[in-house]
Amino acid sequence: ASTRSISILGSTGSIGTNTLDVLTHLGGRETFEVVALTGASNIALLAEQAIAHGARLAVTADESQYVALRDLLSGTGIEVAAGQSGLMEAANAGADMVMAAIVGTAGLAPTLAAARRGADIALANKECLVSAGDLFVAAVRQGGGRLLPVDSEHNAIFQVLEESQRHAVERVILTASGGPFRTFTREQMANVTVETARAHPNWSMGLKISIDSASMFNKALEMIEAKHLFGLAPEQVEVIVHPQSIIHSMVGYSDGSVLAQLGSPDMRHAIGYALEFPRRAKLPVERLDFARLARLDFEAPDEARFPALRLARLAMTRGGVQGAVLNGAKEVALDAFIAGDTGFLSMAQITEAVMEELAHLPPAASMDDVFAADLEARQRAKARLG
Ligand code: NDP
Ligand code: MG
Repeated sequence: ASTRSISILGSTGSIGTNTLDVLTHLGGRETFEVVALTGASNIALLAEQAIAHGARLAVTADESQYVALRDLLSGTGIEVAAGQSGLMEAANAGADMVMAAIVGTAGLAPTLAAARRGADIALANKECLVSAGDLFVAAVRQGGGRLLPVDSEHNAIFQVLEESQRHAVERVILTASGGPFRTFTREQMANVTVETARAHPNWSMGLKISIDSASMFNKALEMIEAKHLFGLAPEQVEVIVHPQSIIHSMVGYSDGSVLAQLGSPDMRHAIGYALEFPRRAKLPVERLDFARLARLDFEAPDEARFPALRLARLAMTRGGVQGAVLNGAKEVALDAFIAGDTGFLSMAQITEAVMEELAHLPPAASMDDVFAADLEARQRAKARLG
């Protein structure tokens, strides 16, 4: 097999380290040449990864870490860069495939650059589709690369949505674990801490997405992500709570048939599928033992306790830059919750208030409008936090 090349934006995170692990299982440098790796604060790990995987370029998003990273890599021949321009350099470094695994809106500009130059995009960073929606999809299409979903739900849908049957798709059903507060009352949720919110029952993930899972903002982002990724109407996107996280998502067709993708909750599965598509990789993920599982449970999501789902529907129905507004306000509120400056329930309250204030914003004609809406939403969310 001919060697392909890959860059990983956000290699030091949860998705990033899982991606490097998958690369090792796929045959290491014989299969994929690693071009660029990027991190932010964790430069010791970044340097270690760059050396172990033979990267050509290592980039820290944090400019103040440039000298320290350069010192860690001196004498290795690995090129070092930093800051926003460094991230753009990594995105443009010419790899066939780019794994987009930076957390939050910070991932948008470099992923967009990689899409525009025609790289295949393995997309973990859901914020690209939530904020930039159709503009991001159009950038991938114009660039000519593939868009391969890594988010486990979307990867599942991608696996069971046959292109030739697209006209017959009635609905997609995103599964949600319900997170650590699935059975909590609103009163109980009002006082939860970061430590309890980050403890996801099934998946091991980065801090922010873990807390977003507890509030179901993660599912809200995924609803918007699915709409853009698969060209769906808002009412075609459904959510069902499935506490075991064994069914990763489903597609319902016009004949009443529902196709589901199942697996153990291990992100290496979705990552491997995206990296090796259209082939299936050989992966060491745990095999399902149905006799031991015994049962799979389902329940309707409660939008009164998890208003994020209602906000996603509102954003999808309004369209335009409402996804960018929802995400920008949510990121500010989430950072405030992590810092201990606001309560768990106020994340949805702040986001909803900002969405109402900015409901009038016109649709985005260009990425500048997306970034402007994101910034405006952040400023308004900050103003509400005082
Ligand atoms: P992590 O927090 O574990 O990792 C985030 C990565 O982004 C790290 O490499 C981090 O560097 C880097 N980073 C942080 N801030 C910045 C910044 N301002 N500019 C550039 N890089 C930055 O996140 P996850 O791996 O969990 O998630 C990554 C993305 O994938 C998110 O969009 C998430 O929603 C999505 N995703 C994650 C899943 C999961 O299982 N984890 C599942 C589905 C989607 P450093 O650590 O060095 O500071
Ligand atoms: Mg997901």
